[in-house]
Amino acid sequence: MSHHGHTGGPLAPPRFDVAVIGAGFGGLAAALTLAEGGARVLLCEALSYPGGCASTFSRRGYRFEAGATLFSGLAPDGLFGRWIQRYAPALEVRFPDPVIALRAPGFTLDLPPRPEDLVAQLCAMPGAPVAGIRSFFAEQQQVAATLWGLFDDPGLLPPFREGALLDHLRRLPRYLPLLRLVGRPLVHALRRHGVADWTPLRATLDASCQISVQCGVDEAEAPFAMAALDYPFRQAGHVRGGIGRLAWALARAVERLGGDVRMAARVRHLARDGEGWALDVRGETVRAERVVANLLPQDLQRLAAVPPGAWPRLDRLAAQVAEGWGAAMLYLGVDSSTFDRREAHHIEIIDDTSAPLIEGNHLFCSISGADEPDRAPPGQRTVTVSTHLSLQGCPPDQRAARVQAVQDRMRDVLQRRAPKLWAGVRVEMPASPRTFQRFTRRHAGLVGGIPRRAGLHHYAGLLPRPVAPGLHLVGDSVFPGQSTLAVAIGGVKVARAVLGDAALQQSLISLPAPRPASDPAPSTGR
Ligand SMILES: Cc1cc2nc3c(=O)[nH]c(=O)nc-3n(C[C@H](O)[C@H](O)[C@H](O)COP(=O)(O)OP(=O)(O)OC[C@H]3O[C@@H](n4cnc5c(N)ncnc54)[C@H](O)[C@@H]3O)c2cc1C
Repeated sequence: MSHHGHTGGPLAPPRFDVAVIGAGFGGLAAALTLAEGGARVLLCEALSYPGGCASTFSRRGYRFEAGATLFSGLAPDGLFGRWIQRYAPALEVRFPDPVIALRAPGFTLDLPPRPEDLVAQLCAMPGAPVAGIRSFFAEQQQVAATLWGLFDDPGLLPPFREGALLDHLRRLPRYLPLLRLVGRPLVHALRRHGVADWTPLRATLDASCQISVQCGVDEAEAPFAMAALDYPFRQAGHVRGGIGRLAWALARAVERLGGDVRMAARVRHLARDGEGWALDVRGETVRAERVVANLLPQDLQRLAAVPPGAWPRLDRLAAQVAEGWGAAMLYLGVDSSTFDRREAHHIEIIDDTSAPLIEGNHLFCSISGADEPDRAPPGQRTVTVSTHLSLQGCPPDQRAARVQAVQDRMRDVLQRRAPKLWAGVRVEMPASPRTFQRFTRRHAGLVGGIPRRAGLHHYAGLLPRPVAPGLHLVGDSVFPGQSTLAVAIGGVKVARAVLGDAALQQSLISLPAPRPASDPAPSTGR
């Protein structure tokens, strides 16, 4: 632990340009971008390790991925790929093929890394509406290319980098096809292409939407959903040894750039202090000009003791987050002999395609590789199994029973649909929204951010506006939210807004121009 905050005198509290609360990927991305921009950064994480919902934790000789297991942006030209080249070149990234093996009643699908191969697989199925499948994916690819173009270059989203507006003008023709999708559920587009009722496509898209935009095709805001359908085609991969390695690499990069990174350092209180903010952390009061909170709006309200109604934007966000999901998990230690494949891989299971893909009816299973010996005791591999679970409206005294019922359904589905894997289980550790609440401190264990149910309100949050003077929110409750890459992109965006803030700029000793993320690797941080 190092102290880089300048002090105003021997007894004055440490003082930073920006304090970042929470080292999930939103906070890590913000802290790193701020440190790269020359700000004196404090990064506080309550747990003894970074990553939050996308971390790797140790338990009973296993190293499990806590939640997120499959990531976009890892290719050399993606945001994570560029950070890996700059700050952690030894980190190994794997791109599985198939990206995901989907098993559903009546069909299986090996989701390939190339969209044309998926189209070919679907078209080869008995009864496939070939023309409709082709035209749907042509539209999806076009929309995804446009929107990912914005994702890959955070400078194209507000706050704009120089030249971004011109770039947007040039892209205008590509934006026009989006107009007929905006504010409508994905199922509208499926109907237009005449493929809304063909089960294999519908179930495949439902599964993908549930995981990414947190609702099925009947509800999912079409442009968001079409962009998210591209995840497997955007060089989706995993980090050898677990995503926690990337989280640690980013935390250490912040430190190497002069930031003060504190683990096991829960911020217990946040209060306005003159023009800046005062944070209570580990019995110390720390002062910062700006704060970036990698927290759910509910948790920020509590931390800053904000009465309801005082910060209306936070109230609105909190209400949207409350409509989201918790997760039920099974962390499994499984006999290695169970697996044919040596490498890490991902299996997605649908039990009943006619029912919502939640609460045990839909499982995402990620299996560590034989080349990751530190992930499990000898002769075993780890498997992280997750499903969506909502406890909204469930009376407190019935929650434990509901969680139990969903976990039982998960076991039952694994036994029936993945019997070989199930037979190899040696150790099982279940988890629930309570577990997430306890470890990541997320209100009610809500994970996954705001469901992107069709509506124009999603576009209102595009600008990274502070929730209170000098106080910004990052993470999956703010745009673009929702995946590890998306929260990181959001963190970069917010950090750039903070760096561009005139008042803060005056206080920075020497502010190098924020580097566009596409810059070649600088010599720092090796
Ligand atoms: C089961 C599951 C599966 C998922 N699968 C995928 C996937 O395969 N691919 C993908 O891209 N995404 C996936 N996601 C989504 C992804 O994990 C999240 O979008 C992302 O990790 C959220 O990051 P965040 O920064 O918003 O918040 P978090 O990860 O929750 O980070 C917040 C951090 O703040 C810390 N904190 C909280 N309070 C305090 C405090 N007072 N002081 C200091 N620190 C504090 C917490 O400990 C935590 O580390 C999955 C999520 C879940 C739950």
